Amino acid sequence: MRYPKLIIELAVVLSCLLSGYFLPAQDAETAPVRKSSEATLPLAELEPDRKIPTLKQVVGHAWGEEVSSHGEVERYIKDLARAAPFRSSLKKYGTSYEGRPLYYLAISSAANIERLEEIRENNILLSDPRRGTEAEVDKLFKEHPAIVWLSYSVHGDESSGTDAGLLTAYHLLADLRKETRGLLEKLVVIIDPLQNPDGRDRFVNFHRENRGVAPSPEPLASEHAQRWPGGRFNHYLFDLNRDWYLQSQVEAGRKALAFSRWQPQVFVDAHEMGRNSTYFFSPATDPINRWILPVQKDWFERIGKYQAGVFDFYGFSYSTREMFDLFYPGYGDSWPTLQGSLGILWEQAGVRGLVVARDDERLLRYSSAVRNHYVSGIATLEAVFENREALLRDHRRVREDAASLIRKSGQRDYFILESGSPQRAARLVRLLQRNSIEVHRVREPLFVQARRMLEGTAGEVAVPIGSYHVSLEQPAGRLARTLLDRHTDMGKDFIERQLTRHLNRLDDEIYDVTAWSLPLAWGTECLAAEGEVKVVSDPVKLGAEQDAYRFNPVEGGEVRGGGLAKVAYLVRGDADELPGVLSDLLNAGVRVHVSDEPLVLGGVPFPRGSLVIRINENDSTVHARVRLLSKTEGVVFYPTDTALVDKGAQLGGPNVRWVKPPKVLLLMDRPASYSVGHTWFYFDRLLRYPVTRVTFSNLDGLNLSSFNVLILPHGKYDSPLAPGEKMVRKLKEWVRSGGTLLLMKGAAAWACGEKIGLLGSRQVRIREPEESAAGQKDARKKDGGKGAEGRLQPPVPGAFFEATTFQHHWGTFGFGPRLRLFFNGRTMLEPLKNDVGRNLVNFSREEDYLISGFCWPDSMDMLRGKPYMASQEMGSGHVIAFADDPNFRAMCRFQQRLFFNAVFFGPGH
Ligand SMILES: [Zn+2]
Repeated sequence: MRYPKLIIELAVVLSCLLSGYFLPAQDAETAPVRKSSEATLPLAELEPDRKIPTLKQVVGHAWGEEVSSHGEVERYIKDLARAAPFRSSLKKYGTSYEGRPLYYLAISSAANIERLEEIRENNILLSDPRRGTEAEVDKLFKEHPAIVWLSYSVHGDESSGTDAGLLTAYHLLADLRKETRGLLEKLVVIIDPLQNPDGRDRFVNFHRENRGVAPSPEPLASEHAQRWPGGRFNHYLFDLNRDWYLQSQVEAGRKALAFSRWQPQVFVDAHEMGRNSTYFFSPATDPINRWILPVQKDWFERIGKYQAGVFDFYGFSYSTREMFDLFYPGYGDSWPTLQGSLGILWEQAGVRGLVVARDDERLLRYSSAVRNHYVSGIATLEAVFENREALLRDHRRVREDAASLIRKSGQRDYFILESGSPQRAARLVRLLQRNSIEVHRVREPLFVQARRMLEGTAGEVAVPIGSYHVSLEQPAGRLARTLLDRHTDMGKDFIERQLTRHLNRLDDEIYDVTAWSLPLAWGTECLAAEGEVKVVSDPVKLGAEQDAYRFNPVEGGEVRGGGLAKVAYLVRGDADELPGVLSDLLNAGVRVHVSDEPLVLGGVPFPRGSLVIRINENDSTVHARVRLLSKTEGVVFYPTDTALVDKGAQLGGPNVRWVKPPKVLLLMDRPASYSVGHTWFYFDRLLRYPVTRVTFSNLDGLNLSSFNVLILPHGKYDSPLAPGEKMVRKLKEWVRSGGTLLLMKGAAAWACGEKIGLLGSRQVRIREPEESAAGQKDARKKDGGKGAEGRLQPPVPGAFFEATTFQHHWGTFGFGPRLRLFFNGRTMLEPLKNDVGRNLVNFSREEDYLISGFCWPDSMDMLRGKPYMASQEMGSGHVIAFADDPNFRAMCRFQQRLFFNAVFFGPGH
């Protein structure tokens, strides 16, 4: 019963401790008090050391006077580090996709900076409860500085954070008062002023080019209303504040690595929200991930209370507890918290420029936004300073209690099985390691009573040698649990509240997707063992620092038998590496064929979708290329000296077709949604296959015959920006003459109306009951008259479902008859009739086909048996429709193969 006792103890300790010098009145005798209640930039009481340069001295504008660009941030932070070399340490921790460096500046006392590496190592020791003697640890609790990480503007157009981060750094380095100097003896403050430099500069450039001498407060003025895609996202239009555990993007991956090298006690992520709001700080609202501990929630309350005291003192408006959840593990507050840190969220009302009018007829200025984040920073540092030792102790205890909490839940050991896809298992392990999760490799086979994450069934299962073992009794055990479990519960009360709101047609309070299970997303079998298990295993390190999202390089590839093929090389159709291999072969001009039917050759079975590289159609360099690819992609090539198969499709027969290299056109810009960037990322970084990106406005003038694959991404097509009648006619002609048209989510919904007629389906809509339909007529009119044809369901908030696949079509190459499908959104399509096309992947017809996450009961009924992927032939071309975007967040690697099939096998079929 450790927690209740701990909380009581803490409550006593903290009520004494929480009396910082921001808090006026009751303790005026002893606590230092602010000189004035005026919050200026920088704070009026600051006694600056003139040797430390101000922002104006370095870049030409003062605090809050201008939105600083990445170049200005870089110049200033370097000058700060140069001016205070003994009290700061600048580290470049990565580079963005567009080549902009990512920095953090560590600031502390001179004595601490001198031994910064030792402090970092001690912090790692403290944050690992398995290390350190009692005496050693006790000494550290008394002396060791707490590590506070302040990070800003992960969304590039939420700009005030970055300037506030610079100002906070200036304050800490320039202030000569003993309060600030004393603070830095007990803290190491790590400031990452700009987490998303590419997005930032996109916003700053846009803003500056649109602003005149006098800034306009009109929210829709061109200096505020950004052009698509705006500055929120990174180069590939990913939301970096969803990518912490996925680490598909370089900025998130490098940051997570920097985090794990420090394991800070407190991690702050500073954002902006709408201009009409005020300021938000943690604690978060429901749902809170169930693996976040009560003691952590308690600390959020206490630090929030301290911050509230400071905001009250200055008369700033704020809100807390009623917005922003802590459920999905990919946020900048939930991920650090699941690691054991306190991940704190700040949200400031955003200006998106220098001044903006609010709906309450007040003006919001950039300088005020910068000021609020700055004061927030100083307040948080003081709260940590006041509670340093208690926080250090609890940080260690939280990382230790991961284990005891896990033990209580009865599941301690997870196993990742290679079962047919060793490459996929290895890549999943690598991703876990990038999340600071320790993994071992099983040395002796064993049997366990376990639940299978893919099937959801329980029973005795064999764990062979070479399987991976993840013990949850480790500091990051709670993160491991939420990432590996099949389902993370949102809590009964929260769900019931949402269902009631749903019945009353009120907006729900679900903030993001409700499922993310890595075994389901990767299609990798994982076992949750029940009870005590004895495992003999060795630690394994699979190059965690490398990019987990590349298709290469994982060991295990070879040319089977080692010899040169006389007739052909084959690659199995279900090989995980097939997409990367085919893409590389086509890039190199190698001619490749694919088998529509299974075959057996030399005793080896090859499923449908297997690749055939004929020697007689390629030049002699093909042997060396195959050999090289086997190593770089980790794939097995099977050489053959005969085309005569034992069984199934003949290598020279009609069922082995030429893979016509796709020439891909991807439509960007409005009406496309940002997830078009995720598709671009898939081609550009994962496949390394050329894709031509064109804006919708240029589609008209484009010679479509230069392309044989055209992707209409997800977006809102009920707008004048969507392709018009003439363009639709042009698209139909192009498909009839052999084009493969991919319609993603919103594009599929748009295309299936009678008016457009690119897809012979309809959107599934809710029919109003007869009697209520009349009463709601007016309301529906306001809804653009859509009510006449029924309304759409609220979106399914990202969940996994059982699905089935049609096994006689190239669209499902590489898949068995069943699939666990991630679905997010509201695009529900009626099945294509048999004489119109084929439904290739369909939501299951079973009663209980939701396997992870949350779905509205009526959506469950509507989605049952409906297609996720459908194909329709038109002339000699195809229209392939997806009800959701398989490339979303690069989250479901396994599912992306469906998209790959459509692009790479469409043109040749
Ligand atoms: Zn944000």
